[in-house]
Amino acid sequence: MAERVEIIEVSPRDGIQNEKKLLSLETKLQLIDRAVKAGASRIEVTSFVNPNRVPQMADADDLCQALPRDTHCKYIGLALNRRGFERACNAELDEVNFVVVASETFSQKNQATDTNSGIRLFNDLVAENTQPNRVGVTIAAAFGCPFEGEMPIDRLLHVVDGCMAANPFEIALADTIGVATPVDIAERIAAVRARFPDVPIRLHLHNTRNTGIANAWAGIQAGVYALDSSFGGVGGCPFAPRATGNIATEDLVYMLERAGIHTGVDLDKAIDAAEFIEAALEKTVPGMVMKAGVFPSNDTASV
Ligand code: MG
Repeated sequence: MAERVEIIEVSPRDGIQNEKKLLSLETKLQLIDRAVKAGASRIEVTSFVNPNRVPQMADADDLCQALPRDTHCKYIGLALNRRGFERACNAELDEVNFVVVASETFSQKNQATDTNSGIRLFNDLVAENTQPNRVGVTIAAAFGCPFEGEMPIDRLLHVVDGCMAANPFEIALADTIGVATPVDIAERIAAVRARFPDVPIRLHLHNTRNTGIANAWAGIQAGVYALDSSFGGVGGCPFAPRATGNIATEDLVYMLERAGIHTGVDLDKAIDAAEFIEAALEKTVPGMVMKAGVFPSNDTASV
């Protein structure tokens, strides 16, 4: 079992992208500041998408200009197409994460292209990039598609093969609509690992069917080195019907730290951040540890 797992805070991007209440640039910066102070080593700060399609991300360029740069944190920008990739590379972020969707229908709805064209574009963009940022790839709908249903493993591996030709520094498998179970996670990680023994594998989970935290555990057992999560378990996708929140950062930290797996994220500060985003969105968020409290409680820990 891993002694350390990296957590990538995605609340400033996935966490709020589908929220109707638009957060101000200042609120987003405060959220990112909380993630930095909580000890996140990487933060997905925004996505470079068409503001007409995702209004919450309209301030991506301004946000990147305003980011505090004197931190230990690496910042990630998400891109779905050429324009987004180029904007992300020009925003002086540490990383660009490009999305390729494994299923045709969702690929068309999410980014108006077919899967093989997405693979080709990713390879072209990596080859053309002259900026110093490193580039990773997320394979969306890796466990199931909101429109086509099951995602055959062979199909997933075809997409993995195509993306790996660009030599990304990591590959993320995304359960975009939260359909995976722990057995699916183990099977698919093992299948990718058998093909590419050395590539770092990251997991992006949604807790839509309450399997998120179990899937995180299965992923770690299968050798995943990094997990996406969001404060309070906020999250969703504008183009995937009924997709709900990511796994909650503070719930994940609680589970891992109790298991002796170090994350670098401070649980109390993560809970503070979850309360911050709950207040900012003016709605109850799904995270559970923030409601139940830590254990042992801070009041009794020394008794
Ligand atoms: Mg997502």
